[in-house]
Amino acid sequence: MEKEKLYGKTLNELIAVTKRMRMPGFAARQIADWLYRKEIDSIDEMTNLSKKMRDLLSADYCIGLSDPETFSESTDGTRKYLFKVLDNKYIETAFIPDDDRATLCVSCQSGCKMGCIFCMTGKQGFQGNISSNEILNQFRSIPEFSRLTNIVYMGMGEPLDNIDEVLKTLDILTSEWGYGWSPTRITVSTVGLIKSITEFLEKSRCNLAVSLHSPFDEERKKLMPVQRTNSVKEVLDAIRNFDFNRQRRVSFEYILFKGLNDSPAHIRELARILNGIRCRINLIRFHPVPGVPLESPDMDSVIRFREALNNKGILATIRASRGMEIRAACGLLSTIQQNKLISE
Ligand code: SF4
Repeated sequence: MEKEKLYGKTLNELIAVTKRMRMPGFAARQIADWLYRKEIDSIDEMTNLSKKMRDLLSADYCIGLSDPETFSESTDGTRKYLFKVLDNKYIETAFIPDDDRATLCVSCQSGCKMGCIFCMTGKQGFQGNISSNEILNQFRSIPEFSRLTNIVYMGMGEPLDNIDEVLKTLDILTSEWGYGWSPTRITVSTVGLIKSITEFLEKSRCNLAVSLHSPFDEERKKLMPVQRTNSVKEVLDAIRNFDFNRQRRVSFEYILFKGLNDSPAHIRELARILNGIRCRINLIRFHPVPGVPLESPDMDSVIRFREALNNKGILATIRASRGMEIRAACGLLSTIQQNKLISE
């Protein structure tokens, strides 16, 4: 029988494990400390647990870390790692160094149900939710782990469609018994699943990034089929109704497609619907995806779009080009790997 993985369990889950093993109450915190602070690779290294306890634990459990299978590196230093999950499926993780920041972009699902037409992962369809172990392993098992300063949940999948596992990882990353990271260094993105946005805002203190891509319902529906059940207005109302503190940030991701969502009418409507929300818009230049008939605007048009928004009082920034290609093509590497496995 396969052993259960300890890495990725919250303190409450570790308490349940220690109860089940008839270990003393304080052992759960000791185990959390070994897993998330002392970064050990085997149960045998948990030397403040008795040998008997370690043997007992090892009979049913393992740490559960796994190295990436491969990686690719782009000329600007960003690296994309490929991890095996579920039953021969793959997820991608991007490491994006940028001056004194080192950001990790993690995946939360294998494939995705949301079907955004501009996204390679959307084209894969949905293969399954991954566990908190598999989400957090992307952070712990890359060589640059100790250099990381920020984490964004913007890789494959819709994080809020796997909210239980995502919330567990946020708990582990931000708790004093876990990695003790500030929640302001972590951003979770969503296409706008209203029910889960509210749950996420209530149960975590991390930043939220909403993929907007158009302020018009009909147009957004064509780009992101999820819009059929979650209108822009409903998404913005859910955000407006929440009491944000000064540290917590809401941002909107806006991929610019040439001749589609980059007109003065889009600027006016964005300014109107975002009025009263303390937020920022991150403008992202679309990077072509195979089989997607959408084009990228030139950089001058992107700059003009940003300035027009800023002039209307909306804080807009252009997402630096570093790592953009790797992110825009999110899903490509895992698609190739999965196709390879099928044809073998
Ligand atoms: S953009 Fe995000 S939510 Fe949309 S299909 Fe791709 S991975 Fe899923």
